[in-house]
Amino acid sequence: MDYLWSPWRYQYVAGDAKREGCIFCEMKRLDPRRDPERLILYRGQFNLVVLNLYPYTSGHLMVAPYAHVASLVELDHRALVEMMSIGQRVEAALERAYHPDGYNLGMNLGRSAGAGVADHLHLHFLPRWRGDTNFMTVIGETRVLPEDLSMTYRKLAPFFQGEAAESTPGDRK
Ligand SMILES: [Zn+2]
Repeated sequence: MDYLWSPWRYQYVAGDAKREGCIFCEMKRLDPRRDPERLILYRGQFNLVVLNLYPYTSGHLMVAPYAHVASLVELDHRALVEMMSIGQRVEAALERAYHPDGYNLGMNLGRSAGAGVADHLHLHFLPRWRGDTNFMTVIGETRVLPEDLSMTYRKLAPFFQGEAAESTPGDRK
């Protein structure tokens, strides 16, 4: 468990994080027609969903607000609420695409807490499978990508098409 949390101290996207500017703000400004190449799955009113370029398990993605804020207290209430409702949609999509045994959701607020992009809030979703920690421990620092990112994108994208989620956990009784 500890091991899979600690990698979040690494930058969210290794190369990009070192560039000038903020990667999430860049994504916000990007022409949405280019979303597939940038692995952006969904744009809400206040937040976007994007795959992590260095996933720890298949389906590792993030929800980030458009607003360039570093903490929850700075985030507009509507954006905060939408982040969680998109989170519902993310969970439902991951459930249907990957059937994981569980999830870690997490935010690193501040560089000391391990945020790679410390200035711009983002919420990680990490699907988990029984035994994946053992596997990762053995592999150590060597990242083994369980699946190609374009494959992950193709699997998940259909669940984010259309304004109303076809099935969110809240819809199910
Ligand atoms: Zn930003």
